[in-house]
Amino acid sequence: MQVLHTVEELRAWSRRLRCKGEGLIGLVPTMGALHEGHASLIRAAAQQCAGRVAVSIFVNPTQFGPNEDFSRYPRTFDADREIAARAGATVIFAPNVEEMYPAGAGTFVDVEGLSERLDGKSRPGHFRGVATVVAKLLIAAEPDLAFFGQKDAAQVAVLQKLVADLRLGTRLVVCPIVRKPDGLAMSSRNVYLSAEERRQALVLSRAIRQVERLVSGGERQSSALIEAARGVLAEEPMVRVDYVELVDWATLLPVTTAGPGTLLALAAWVGSTRLIDNAIIG
Ligand code: AMP
Repeated sequence: MQVLHTVEELRAWSRRLRCKGEGLIGLVPTMGALHEGHASLIRAAAQQCAGRVAVSIFVNPTQFGPNEDFSRYPRTFDADREIAARAGATVIFAPNVEEMYPAGAGTFVDVEGLSERLDGKSRPGHFRGVATVVAKLLIAAEPDLAFFGQKDAAQVAVLQKLVADLRLGTRLVVCPIVRKPDGLAMSSRNVYLSAEERRQALVLSRAIRQVERLVSGGERQSSALIEAARGVLAEEPMVRVDYVELVDWATLLPVTTAGPGTLLALAAWVGSTRLIDNAIIG
């Protein structure tokens, strides 16, 4: 499988296909350390854009805070290449930092409002970095479809607004969260967890299931649902909650009553690893 390193190569690849005619062009943006969650996105892309799927692998420095894990983020390019190929990628786009942020680059994309909510509140600047790099990727590849995971639900909301506000010609396709059989949402950061922390981390999906059970039973009050989630999370005293919120998925603003399009989102520290999980519960 071909590996492209420059924006110009990616643009040329996409334009060549566009000239050839009909089929859709798909992009799957990732930071590498690919797992089954990423593979599910690539498979979805391959289904809708057969032979025209670019997977980008770029650990984007601007979305990491100064004390976050940018330098130790797992980088597993050879394995990623295998996984991407098997899942149906056509090319990999693997630029270096200078390619995405040429010397002196001072243009950033700020999705106002949404970028300060949920993870944006605890990770100032995070969504500015995400929006900037995704805008660069969409402008370079000009895909018809770009595939993202519901795993990063707040990111999806930010990017939907980015695409709408900038009138970009790409449609975002949101794929379901892939979990381990025991419920843990797959994440590149799970490799940081010790065996004991991995066990503790199951409390996140347990909290979500508890809320889902209450909603099935008719409970709709956000305060009661959040309290129930916090109650389950408290079963693991070593797990430090960052946030538990019920929000409208489009605006990321809190709702008082759960309804269609309500997102239950939570983030917690397990040891020194920050994990997120969510469910649509309306
Ligand atoms: P990342 O490499 O963590 O930036 O993720 C790249 C894309 O894969 C994002 O759109 C994520 O939401 C998606 N993704 C990550 N983990 C999962 C998962 N467990 N299930 C589905 N999609 C995922």
